[in-house]
Amino acid sequence: MAISIGLQLLLPFPWGLGAALVIFIAFPMLLRKRYMSKMRGYGDSGSGGGFFGMNSGGTGIHYVCLVCNHKHKGGTCPRCGSKTQRADF
Ligand SMILES: [Zn+2]
Repeated sequence: MAISIGLQLLLPFPWGLGAALVIFIAFPMLLRKRYMSKMRGYGDSGSGGGFFGMNSGGTGIHYVCLVCNHKHKGGTCPRCGSKTQRADF
């Protein structure tokens, strides 16, 4: 609001009105764009590596079962239940 009023004072009438229209159209679009990217960022950090990192105690490290060669996230093997495993980086 303050910017558009300032522009109308600085510029001759038709240009000030045009600039105000551009600001009123562009500004909500910019706000929405920022809001969307912010929401997307929250979604990534909320449902991404944080959850699995807490469960397995480390991010990016997988374990390979030595019995059935199944890749999993540590603990017991979800396929055969064996605890025999090696770290796979
Ligand atoms: Zn297994």
